[in-house]
Amino acid sequence: LADFRYEKATWCPGCGDFTVLASLQQACVKMGLEPEGVCCVSGIGCSGKISQHFGSYGFHSLHGRSLPTAQGIKMGNQELTVIAAGGDGDGYGIGMGHFIHACRRNVDITYVVMDNHIYGLTTGQSSPTSKKGFKTKTTPAGVAEEPVKPLELAMTAGASFVAQAFSGDLKQMTNILTAAIQHKGFSLVNIFSPCVTFNRVNTYEWFKEHIVNFDEMEYDRSDKYEAMRRVHEAEGVCTGIIYQEDRPAFHEVVLGATPHGTVKENLELSHEQMSALLDQFRR
Ligand code: SF4
Repeated sequence: LADFRYEKATWCPGCGDFTVLASLQQACVKMGLEPEGVCCVSGIGCSGKISQHFGSYGFHSLHGRSLPTAQGIKMGNQELTVIAAGGDGDGYGIGMGHFIHACRRNVDITYVVMDNHIYGLTTGQSSPTSKKGFKTKTTPAGVAEEPVKPLELAMTAGASFVAQAFSGDLKQMTNILTAAIQHKGFSLVNIFSPCVTFNRVNTYEWFKEHIVNFDEMEYDRSDKYEAMRRVHEAEGVCTGIIYQEDRPAFHEVVLGATPHGTVKENLELSHEQMSALLDQFRR
């Protein structure tokens, strides 16, 4: 990881976010990516610190707004590997609208959600993925609603790569993140990343007892209905690559076939050619 050095991270000792960071960096090194070829965009929350620690280009964006920022960066520079990251509150609460549209748009970025089922930075309130009945300082009688189901939601909304990992399993997490970054299109990796300070229910031990490893199952991962059925029927919480579809990414659909050439060719336009192109939009 020599090229992805970072300042000492300030998460609580034992926080799951440490291994998510290490795993992402390992995946980048494994793929031969250089720090100047990667941009990590984060939202707000404990997980939001990841963009500062990554050792690549970083953008600490607004609460719930990592996805529009990351998509804009990718559309502006197709050469960059763009990773958006945040927590379950950031992504599935205030950022939910962006999440759904990012899934269907299929911009070629990777979205990593560090899901600890609680708001950690604000000291322990229930989040969109908190289980029904979970008691926190804002829900003393237990959460009344059903939790958001990120995998089913992403598949329904049109994400072309959907996976789930556990920060207590570095090897599987790194393999999944590598596949997600290599995937052409929008990839969601929801990662169980325990908050050791404020969530005393969904601990490392709890996840180990409840995980069902889908990577050990044989099925057609391009069959969305089969993937949905298996997730729905799983007796526990699943990890592994759940669904993967091969379809054109957003820039290929929108920009690849323009009369002005591909995105790469457009980036290589001379100053005069670019001015002439922009003039068409000014009319
Ligand atoms: Fe991690 Fe929880 Fe500490 Fe935040 S409060 S750094 S999520 S352990």
